[in-house]
Amino acid sequence: MQTYKMLIDGQWVDAALGETFETRNPYTGDVWAAIPKGTKEDAERAVEAAHKAFTGGPWPKLTASDRGHLLRRLGDLIAENAERLARIEVTDNGKLINEMLFQLKYIPQWYYYFGGLADKIEGAVIPIDKPETFNYTRNEPLGVCVGITPWNSPLLLLSYKLAPALAAGNTFVAKPSEFTSASTLEFAKLVEQAGFPPGVFNVVTGFGADVGETLTTHKHVAKIAFTGSEGTGRKIGELAARNFKKVTLELGGKSPHIVFADAEIDNAVNGVISGIFAATGQTCIAGSRLLVESKIHDQVLEKVIALAKTARMGDPLSTSTQVGPVTTPPQLEKILSYIDIAKGEGAECLLGGARPSNPELGNGWFVEPTIFAGVRNSMRIAQEEVFGPVLAVIPFDTEEEAIQIANDTNYGLAAGFWTQDMRRMLRVSAAVQAGTVWVNTYRTISYMSPLGGYKHSGIGRENGMASIQNYLQTKSVMVST
Ligand code: NAD
Repeated sequence: MQTYKMLIDGQWVDAALGETFETRNPYTGDVWAAIPKGTKEDAERAVEAAHKAFTGGPWPKLTASDRGHLLRRLGDLIAENAERLARIEVTDNGKLINEMLFQLKYIPQWYYYFGGLADKIEGAVIPIDKPETFNYTRNEPLGVCVGITPWNSPLLLLSYKLAPALAAGNTFVAKPSEFTSASTLEFAKLVEQAGFPPGVFNVVTGFGADVGETLTTHKHVAKIAFTGSEGTGRKIGELAARNFKKVTLELGGKSPHIVFADAEIDNAVNGVISGIFAATGQTCIAGSRLLVESKIHDQVLEKVIALAKTARMGDPLSTSTQVGPVTTPPQLEKILSYIDIAKGEGAECLLGGARPSNPELGNGWFVEPTIFAGVRNSMRIAQEEVFGPVLAVIPFDTEEEAIQIANDTNYGLAAGFWTQDMRRMLRVSAAVQAGTVWVNTYRTISYMSPLGGYKHSGIGRENGMASIQNYLQTKSVMVST
């Protein structure tokens, strides 16, 4: 069994009380690593270290170009170690090796892109209405930034936060999910190897209630970048507001995926399948509500079911597997309970709806790809985030009705729709309340394009050039001439 340590102030350390917790492989159910059970004291030490590194030592003396250089070197190291990191995430999280290799080969781009922006953070000279005063602005880092991440994509979601934070000159404390801490600890070795000074990047592992809350409330923390559930996001938002800490919150979703009658049906069906079943439905952007125009409802449903039936469940390390296990036992229970809720609400289960009977999958936390038809948008299965491979199919008759149903949710992270009508593309993209809208595609993301939520799906945007502003504050300097 692998035993990990945390990185605090450039030192690899055990938790203050010496305790660890186990992390298990979702495919085999086996314990494969021991993770330090960080305490409040460990979280405080990490923040103090990041504060010290921000206010003294080599980091604040580096030029912006030096920071960019370090970030690019880190990108190179991630690329060199992509396969190793991918296998660790698969072991810890159950995601498919194909997806993880793709993701890990893409993650370096965050460090190249934001590394490239580091020396392009500029101020302005403002010709104010006082001729005797020279006014200019400086864009300065915030200080200690905390990144709290969920279990579904640990390194990708960390990179959304870390790359712009370091490019802007901040220091950082990462708190990965207690279910998937290993890859962040492995990644920390690369940050060290890249040559970042001690204390600039720290990792504290442990649980939300002690480590997470300490990081959220510590007086030296300037900013919290959080990805996770709506409930935790609300808690963090409330605590942060008390001390005016900056926050970025990337929360849940219940994304509508709309198929209009004029769509290229086979392409739409492929998009629908990958939209909900990729990563076993455990993505914030999962297209979990399928809205289908009534006149093609039966045809689309038949094709979606036929394709879903071909999905091969199995070992996530095998390149032929298409649906892997769920990441955690509580998540498996949650998904199964939503399947019961949907059945109780009168939705018709046309596919799946249970754990697979195949004995070869018996040790893994699997649930079958599941499709419910006859869903009304008011049902819990259409309103609440399941975060699993469960699709709720809802018919509609007109474009207006599709938009009304799509927007009838507290969430607003993403939406997708399929049509060949150019005017409809423009109308529906404008009318749908979601931070990302995909037209004739689904799930495309880029380090260059903003990602974030409308309504309860969050506050702020990650990725894209503007996101570096999440990690800066503007100072206006007035000089008497
Ligand atoms: P979660 O909210 O349970 O946990 C996320 C992180 O918060 C973990 O590291 C956890 O330890 C920590 N945490 C828990 N309680 C805390 C507290 N009181 N204070 C500080 N930190 C605390 O979420 P999860 O179950 O790990 O992840 C799934 C959720 O993440 C889903 O709702 C999903 O939609 C969301 N998600 C959103 C995006 C996005 O970009 N919007 C991306 C991926 C996942």
